[in-house]
Amino acid sequence: MAEFPLEISPMFEGERIRKNDMYVELAGPKSKGFELVRATDSDEIEDGKFTLIGPDISEMEEGSRYPFAMLYKIGGELVEPDLEAIVERRNHDFYNYMQGVMHLNQRYDIWVRLSKDAVNKGLNSFEQMAAAMMSLFKNELSFIEKIEAVYITDPEEIDKELENAMEIYKERDERTANLHEEDVDTFYGCTLCQSFAPSNVCVITPDRIALCGAINWFDGRAAAKVDPEGPQFPIEKGEVIDEVGGEYSGVNEAAKSLSGGEFDRIKLHSFFEYPHTSCGCFEVVGFYIPEVDGIGWVDRDFTGNAPNGLPFSTMAGQTGGGKQVVGFLGIGINYFRSPKFLQADGGWDRVVWMPSHLKEKVVDYIPEDVVNKIPTEQDVGDISELETYLKETEHPVIERWSEEEEEETEAEEEQSGQPESAPSQYMTQMPASMPSAPSWTPSASSGGVKVTLKNAKVSIDRIIVKNKE
Ligand code: SF4
Ligand SMILES: [Zn+2]
Repeated sequence: MAEFPLEISPMFEGERIRKNDMYVELAGPKSKGFELVRATDSDEIEDGKFTLIGPDISEMEEGSRYPFAMLYKIGGELVEPDLEAIVERRNHDFYNYMQGVMHLNQRYDIWVRLSKDAVNKGLNSFEQMAAAMMSLFKNELSFIEKIEAVYITDPEEIDKELENAMEIYKERDERTANLHEEDVDTFYGCTLCQSFAPSNVCVITPDRIALCGAINWFDGRAAAKVDPEGPQFPIEKGEVIDEVGGEYSGVNEAAKSLSGGEFDRIKLHSFFEYPHTSCGCFEVVGFYIPEVDGIGWVDRDFTGNAPNGLPFSTMAGQTGGGKQVVGFLGIGINYFRSPKFLQADGGWDRVVWMPSHLKEKVVDYIPEDVVNKIPTEQDVGDISELETYLKETEHPVIERWSEEEEEETEAEEEQSGQPESAPSQYMTQMPASMPSAPSWTPSASSGGVKVTLKNAKVSIDRIIVKNKE
């Protein structure tokens, strides 16, 4: 079997391959592909066998892009379908162990680059990579006794197989639909992403899939059972502290020990108060839009700007690193299907924008009374259009505006003894429950602005100051 011509070590995990250094790009946002692991009857696996459908690395043109899919069949006495997602997630780690190879994301979102340097040093065949991967899988996950790999670079073949793979991902995601946090005593945790986000605390419950979207509660359970020393482990639920917010004593204890004391509270279903940490592999980023007091969502596939003027990449940069970031939250797509979806903040009633293709994916789970009130890039382009749209459709979030306006008007009256006409003041105020968010206190009467920033990281592209007209 072919040998991988460079080094293989966890040391290369953080390696990034920039455009100028890349020989080829495989799958990724401008192409297509997927990774899939299937539990298979051992008799049907020829251990170590590799099949390639489509052109090999040596036949690829430098600087170009190809579709790419990886399929692995795994077998063994302890191998069961619940382990598929866990093994599949490790494909990401192990790929990054290979020097000169970069792997991002998961499932149908994968994005791989091979460096020029690696190709110059003799990486010319997918067989070299597949062989390395198969031996890593077997060495690191001892329950895998037999493994076979099929890689595809032929576009038509990928289309055919991708359809099948999407069905399988969907079936996995639907498994937890009838199981809820109140039905179980144990949640699961995962530390895989601590290699680059050391304080990340990933908690997986029946009502909350991991933010990478790749590991659900059943997957966590199967992994913890078969590999007790592995990166997935049980978390005792403990006492319910806040049922709506999703706060549990066991999760708080786990958060404290896993984050090295950085966080000691997590509310699983809250955006603003002790939110779940975000490492970097989230499928979707939620972002607070103070002007309308609502939450927008943007996924990796959306290439434009959200109504706040920012693309996914910029907001993802603000969100990652294994922190509790108030104002941004990374989630797995399947969390949109959870009946507990951000229930502490109003759930779907607080959602004010998402890209159309993302909305389509989850449309069946959006409550009927709000589904037509959530605009996409086809309806609104900026904040003022968003505001108008929300008003016109009577989106439930506008109830919050009037409440806040009233509160503020009362406060203003007390302060200055005369009513203020500051119709858009609610726009610049974060909810009081945001513990470390910037707090803006505009004071229209004095013409000045007082800004208090606590523990905040703020980056501003441009500030325009204009005289009142
Ligand atoms: S996002 Fe969470 S569940 Fe997914 S691999 Fe990272 S730590 Fe594990
Ligand atoms: Zn991660």
